[in-house]
Amino acid sequence: MAECPYCQPAEHPLFEDEEVKIVLSPEPIVPGHVLVLPKQHFTILEQVPDKLIGKIFGLANKASNALFETLKAQGTNLFIRNGVAAGQSVAHFAVHVLPRKENDGVNLQWQPRQLSEEEMATVELKLKEKPIPPQEQVKSQPIEENYLWRSWNRRPG
Ligand SMILES: [Zn+2]
Repeated sequence: MAECPYCQPAEHPLFEDEEVKIVLSPEPIVPGHVLVLPKQHFTILEQVPDKLIGKIFGLANKASNALFETLKAQGTNLFIRNGVAAGQSVAHFAVHVLPRKENDGVNLQWQPRQLSEEEMATVELKLKEKPIPPQEQVKSQPIEENYLWRSWNRRPG
């Protein structure tokens, strides 16, 4: 994946080991917007091994701490854009960590909706039809069957 920007060696990593790197986002929403990236190319969260997910989130937590201490953030957002429909613009899994301050003008447009009781009941029933599976089942699902993965392959260009 030579064309993947997140697979390129980082010029000024904030952290790097054999599996993970932390870099400043090339498209920051706020100053101090960092990305926690697996070095291996994974497109979506579902492809990343559980052990590595644990490590990536541990490091995202440490990056968040650093933003509080060094940039005097008043809050942080940890954010994953998982799939094209979720706004993912680079086909390489990343955890975004955003330092936040009150009235910083960032608009993540989190707008709760009022659902009817019927809508809530329908979605709950659907989710319970297929229980959230134990890890063995997650791993046995071929990634090509995953709708998020297919959404990348459907993209134009
Ligand atoms: Zn990549």
